Amino acid sequence: MRIARFSIDGNVAFGAVEGEGTVESGGLVLDIIKGIPYTDFELSGTKVPLSKVRLLPPVLPNKVVAIGRNYAEHAAELGNEVPDVPVAFFKPTTSVIGPGDVIEYPSFSNELHHEAELAVVIGRMCREVPRERVKDVVFGYTCANDVTARDAQKREKQWARAKGFDTSCPLGPWVETDLTLAAAGDLTIQATVNGEQRQLGRTSDMIRSIEDLVVHITEAMTLLPGDVILTGTPAGVGPLNVGDEVAVTIEGIGTLTNKVIKRG
Ligand code: MG
Repeated sequence: MRIARFSIDGNVAFGAVEGEGTVESGGLVLDIIKGIPYTDFELSGTKVPLSKVRLLPPVLPNKVVAIGRNYAEHAAELGNEVPDVPVAFFKPTTSVIGPGDVIEYPSFSNELHHEAELAVVIGRMCREVPRERVKDVVFGYTCANDVTARDAQKREKQWARAKGFDTSCPLGPWVETDLTLAAAGDLTIQATVNGEQRQLGRTSDMIRSIEDLVVHITEAMTLLPGDVILTGTPAGVGPLNVGDEVAVTIEGIGTLTNKVIKRG
């Protein structure tokens, strides 16, 4: 099931996405959900065309834990070694935006980059998750863009500003809940800018698997329903300029599109 979060007439709701097509092409319908998707819920049968609503980030995470340098070719393209221990960092909740929202180019950077990433959405409170239980704590998957001020990342020892500025974490367009761990670990992932392909990879090229990352992160901290793990980006990262439209597409999930504007 594809679960979107949206607003209509000032109300926020979740809905199951039905039909074929994309956010842009139209033809999709939302069946409004009664209850909360992470626990028991049912479909209301009340349907609304997706074109009539504003899509929101599909989850409101308590935290976004992101992993750096998890694809060997991407680590190499920036002149970095593959780390012995996964590099983990946070993106704050104020960095999260939804499909169609704008990425605001921050004033302290002259080198903004896109990073297409598979995002894992956690479904239940968990800590010290053993490998065989990872499948029980994952709610589903969505697309993410770990937008990065590359110049600030190089300048500053920690990445809080470079990867945590407002609007630096587009998520969406919805959460796909029907993928197994094995399926999610072998999907095509790509980024285009103004329709031109920039990044292309497969999630099977991740150095640490989804299971590895959930075990590693929950060794340290409790994850809550709606928390998000960004799993790293494949090779091909590159510049975003004001006016660009960047799209992250993951096979079997969907396409997340955002435009870049100058911060006003
Ligand atoms: Mg990244």
